[in-house]
Amino acid sequence: MSYTALYRKFRPQEFEEVRGQEHIVTTLKNQIQAGRIGHAYLFCGTRGTGKTTIAKIFAKAVNCEHPVEGSPCGQCKSCRGIASGNSMNVIEIDAASNNGVDNIREIREEVTYSPAEGRYKVYIIDEVHMLSIGAFNALLKTLEEPPSYVIFILATTEAHKIPITILSRCQRYDFRRITIDTIAGRLEELMEKEQVETEPKAIRYIAKAADGSMRDALSLLDQCIAFYLGQKLTYDHVLEVLGAVDVEVFSQMLRKIIDQDVIGVVALLEQLIVHGREPGQFVLDFTWYLRNLLLLQSSDNMEDMLDISTENLMLLKEEAKMIEGERLMRYIRIFSELSNQLRYAVQKRALIEIALIKLCRPEMEKDYSSLVQRITQLEEKMEQGMYVPGKTQEDTTVLMQHMPENEEAGRQKGKEQELPKAIPEEIQQVVKDWRSIIEGLSGGLKNYLKPAHLSLAGEGQLLIVLEDEVAQAFVNTEAHIRELKEMIAQKTQREVEVKVQLHETKQPFEETYADLGKIINMEITIEDEEE
Ligand SMILES: [Zn+2]
Repeated sequence: MSYTALYRKFRPQEFEEVRGQEHIVTTLKNQIQAGRIGHAYLFCGTRGTGKTTIAKIFAKAVNCEHPVEGSPCGQCKSCRGIASGNSMNVIEIDAASNNGVDNIREIREEVTYSPAEGRYKVYIIDEVHMLSIGAFNALLKTLEEPPSYVIFILATTEAHKIPITILSRCQRYDFRRITIDTIAGRLEELMEKEQVETEPKAIRYIAKAADGSMRDALSLLDQCIAFYLGQKLTYDHVLEVLGAVDVEVFSQMLRKIIDQDVIGVVALLEQLIVHGREPGQFVLDFTWYLRNLLLLQSSDNMEDMLDISTENLMLLKEEAKMIEGERLMRYIRIFSELSNQLRYAVQKRALIEIALIKLCRPEMEKDYSSLVQRITQLEEKMEQGMYVPGKTQEDTTVLMQHMPENEEAGRQKGKEQELPKAIPEEIQQVVKDWRSIIEGLSGGLKNYLKPAHLSLAGEGQLLIVLEDEVAQAFVNTEAHIRELKEMIAQKTQREVEVKVQLHETKQPFEETYADLGKIINMEITIEDEEE
């Protein structure tokens, strides 16, 4: 026996079965009952929210021989014909693959013939925003003077792409994303029908992951059931199949970030990836976790809004006290940006690592919120009496508390004359790895950068000084700077701002700039001698 996907098997056949779009269903039923049916409808909303499902039920209802309070009876010839897909009165068109003028002209010709049986011909045009301009114009002519027996239902996920002339002729219905509760309720109901035993936690995780789409929820559920066929569906199984991680791991991750434990954070990420967890899913879930934390902080009555167990709520409450809202918002911002970047990225893991490091080290960024975090951290240190006034006061090193204490102190004493400012750790790393960074670049860029001198520009930027004007112009383009920054990120796991400059004067380079290549290599030599 072939397996029918849950989404097909349990596709609602009547209005009452549709979940989460009650406002639309009620209006449509009222129209049918009152006999005030429109000729053009526009159904907008994200995927999987029931647009075509409702369109089909509507088509049934308007043609039904014995409608019950605006709903199709499901028994008459017309209802059965439409349900089995054999009715001539319901025409489904996928505009994604039929977007030309000719496709719409065909419809216009067909429309001139009234239905052989039943009352209405219903045209359901899915993904209607994909139509070409010509096709829209052809459609407009039909919408201007539709025959009385024709109904158009246009469905789209992107209403803003539809010409205003079309919009103004349609009744518009906005489909909502379906809530987690509603989806979970429906899934539980269906699993009972299928006689599959489930853990409520498992169902809720799927409902949450579906992000408002009932169709996605059902296909995720399908995957999970197929993988553990004949077994009880547990939370652990769902995490396994979807490549997700347990909430406890997020708690560990956050605590490491608060402790500014970069090594711990990266190691934890490594562990997740080794265990086959999906990096994109991790980013989404962790953002959700941070969002819950923020909600919990903003009000005492938020507990019901959060979709988590009591034990995890305890952890969350503890963490809510460990971190201030401003900082949390900065974390959420960085992680939401990250999930956009990840969509098209090849080096997903490197990007996630960079974002995590950014969270641990606000000193790498210069925007308002990271400055606030730096100041708060300084204030905390001062309160704890860890602040040492004196010469280092104007020095950037005050902000660099993440550096191991002794290493930092050693550099202060020994190398003060050579170092114009303390060199940020990330820049040091770039200088040390410079050869290997250059080796990874594309041909032209690699050759032009080989003779470059490295120095430090204001605010911890890496300054690349070139003596050749052509080389400077070549390197200093947006695309090449980006390529270089990406390679730096890949080789050193750090994000560094880069500035390119031409060395114009006749003076030797060392007299104008601090030559980081020399300073840092000298440090290495000295260390070697001591050993
Ligand atoms: Zn019927």
